[in-house]
Amino acid sequence: MTADELDSSPDPSDVETRDAILEQVDLNPPTRLSWCPNCGEAVGSVTSRGLLDHTAGPCGCSLTPGQVKRL
Ligand SMILES: [Zn+2]
Repeated sequence: MTADELDSSPDPSDVETRDAILEQVDLNPPTRLSWCPNCGEAVGSVTSRGLLDHTAGPCGCSLTPGQVKRL
């Protein structure tokens, strides 16, 4: 193996790919909390009318306090 072979390693392309993946992750807005434990739909919001009354949105399933904590 010679020094020329080491210098010609095409590293720049790998760096570009990694940057593109990081950009995609950053562009994803954290609007989704988690997945509904009842129906499996993506939960975008949780409406609370009291300590024991929580409703997942937009699917509308009732959630227990323990389920809300896990979201
Ligand atoms: Zn649901």
